[in-house]
Amino acid sequence: MDDCIFCKIIEGEIPGEIFLEEENFVAIWDINPKAPQHLLVIPRGHVSSLEDTADWPPERISEMFRFVREVAEKAGIRESGYRVLTNVGKDAGQVVFHLHIHVIGGAGLGDFA
Ligand code: AMP
Repeated sequence: MDDCIFCKIIEGEIPGEIFLEEENFVAIWDINPKAPQHLLVIPRGHVSSLEDTADWPPERISEMFRFVREVAEKAGIRESGYRVLTNVGKDAGQVVFHLHIHVIGGAGLGDFA
């Protein structure tokens, strides 16, 4: 998609701090972290939000969450625990309309978002 910031980061058109990548998903560091570790898991193909994954095969959803676990492992927060969330639409406060799963941890999250 032409005007999508995450598509541009994935395509290398603008800088982004890529943490881990594989065939269908990329993890980047959030530019405005809400906790010591704050990563975003992003599918390579443009989909606006979780709502647009209705036609994904179930294996793709599983693959996305397997990648989330790998990101947590590599970030060193799998044992200590982490939060996974995705904002969908206006009332959730979604700002970037390319699906991304927040992976947040590295401290007790009671004090964070
Ligand atoms: P939301 O759409 O509400 O899930 O929020 C978008 C998230 O993307 C926020 O946590 C931002 O800090 C993050 N973000 C926005 N632009 C960038 C960027 N260029 N690189 C990394 N993270 C970003």
